[in-house]
Amino acid sequence: MNILFFGPNGSGKGTQGAILKDKYNTPHIESGAIFRDNISNGTELGAKAKGYIDKGDLVPDEITIPMILDRLKKEDCKDGWLLDGFPRNKNQAIKLDEALKEADMALDIVVEILLDREIAKNRIMGRRLCVNDNNHPNNIFIDVIKPDGDKCRVCGGDLKTRADDQDEDAISKRHAIYYNTEEGTLASAYYFKDLAEKKGNIKYITLDGEPSVKAVTEELISKL
Ligand code: AMP
Repeated sequence: MNILFFGPNGSGKGTQGAILKDKYNTPHIESGAIFRDNISNGTELGAKAKGYIDKGDLVPDEITIPMILDRLKKEDCKDGWLLDGFPRNKNQAIKLDEALKEADMALDIVVEILLDREIAKNRIMGRRLCVNDNNHPNNIFIDVIKPDGDKCRVCGGDLKTRADDQDEDAISKRHAIYYNTEEGTLASAYYFKDLAEKKGNIKYITLDGEPSVKAVTEELISKL
């Protein structure tokens, strides 16, 4: 199963993505997490990406597109993949579509989480990341997933924040990119929505991101 996952930062995309990953047993490829791993490991790629990420800008396509297309060629993606955070603009969508055609790979499902921009912003600022698994849901502003004191509510691990989550200018830039329907991330989602409507072999699912994590998961499972 080949899946694309869209949602504004703060919509619970990572959490719901992890559920899909388990259901279909596919690798969960998160472009942002790949960059963050490279930064923590002090790689050349991480050094190139860090300045853009800290400011909330996109890492340039010349770096991001080959990084993701190469990742999709790895052995573990042979039987399917779940792509989260890519494509992030229209150019990336076109390049991904071309690469899929070239590799004779079909896209099966596209998921788009719908969420108001202001709600997404508050969620981002309250988000806490578990050092053991970034997709353990912890948010100091959402009662049902409030951390256990200063520890992860799922596994008790230490929690940290992302620098780009606590910087309002960076959040605003990330959302401006996401909600841009001409060239930004929504434009890339709509590129595949158009294909889904024209060809009929791609399932395009929209989810209301406002209710609880559990309710969003239920909607997701019911629509798959
Ligand atoms: P995320 O974890 O998805 O919020 O991504 C964190 C940051 O990584 C973004 O704000 C961008 O700076 C960078 N990034 C992630 N995915 C992409 C992408 N597809 N294209 C360009 N930059 C990206």
